[in-house]
Amino acid sequence: MKYVVGVDLGGTQLRAVLIDRDADLLAYQRTDTAAECGPTAVIAQIEQLITMVTAQVDRQDVVGIGVGTPGPLDPFDGIVLEAPNLAGWINVPLKALLQERTGLPVTVGNDANAAGLGEWRFGSGRGCQDFVYVTISTGIGGGVIAQGKLLLGSKGMAGEVGHMTIQMDGPLCGCGNFGCWEVVASGTALARTAQGALERGHQSLIKEIAASSPVEGWHIAAAAERGDTLAQTLMRREGELIGVGLVNLLHLYSPERIALGGGVTKSIAHWEPYMRSVVEERAMLPYRTATINLATLGDNVGVIGAAALVL
Ligand SMILES: [Zn+2]
Repeated sequence: MKYVVGVDLGGTQLRAVLIDRDADLLAYQRTDTAAECGPTAVIAQIEQLITMVTAQVDRQDVVGIGVGTPGPLDPFDGIVLEAPNLAGWINVPLKALLQERTGLPVTVGNDANAAGLGEWRFGSGRGCQDFVYVTISTGIGGGVIAQGKLLLGSKGMAGEVGHMTIQMDGPLCGCGNFGCWEVVASGTALARTAQGALERGHQSLIKEIAASSPVEGWHIAAAAERGDTLAQTLMRREGELIGVGLVNLLHLYSPERIALGGGVTKSIAHWEPYMRSVVEERAMLPYRTATINLATLGDNVGVIGAAALVL
């Protein structure tokens, strides 16, 4: 039996799994990321989790370790160029450092790319050659499988779907551009738009549901559920904005399937019809045969995707 380790390095949580070639989960460990303590401390945490998930198997049967990391990186040399929410992570040669410490081959990839790879191999994209995975949560990320391969581009940074411009004069994005998909349609954007409307005096159940805490996506979904006009308008807009981005992806990559994941998809019932209408109205006819569905790996997509980087 051969095994693979997957590690999902997040700003708040660090998770690791041991899977076999069918993605059966054999061991799972997680810990809070020592995000403020710098790369050396976090790499020691990763090493510890790897030791824990491989404790029950012969190390010789472990084929390799895949690590999904946030932010820009060089997947060819395994260098994390920058990791948002992780202090001091600038140009960290993660692949070399982990290989040295574990004696196993290491592959490093962008977390959303890895998730896309995981969904393609083991989830919603299984069996197709051209597939796009989009995760809509605090940001928007994705992974593109083109002709049976993860699309990396010349620098290994392809597939940054969240930074397609959707509104030329839209709000400023964290990347420095304006009106990116992420800054108009992520969960953060949805909450910010709701907060702005409330501050301008819109009456809404969102205010009551959120009480004194900042507005979150689920507050809006809960208000929409109860027939709240503002919440329903926001959900409609959310669906339309997601739809516009998906039309771009259909035209760019001509996938057989698109899968949607991330926290915002929990409220898909409220925005899906608007998303589909936009796709029907705006995508050129031959592209519309692509199916658009929910991703299937759920919370494990990050770690399974990371492991899929090795397979
Ligand atoms: Zn951007």
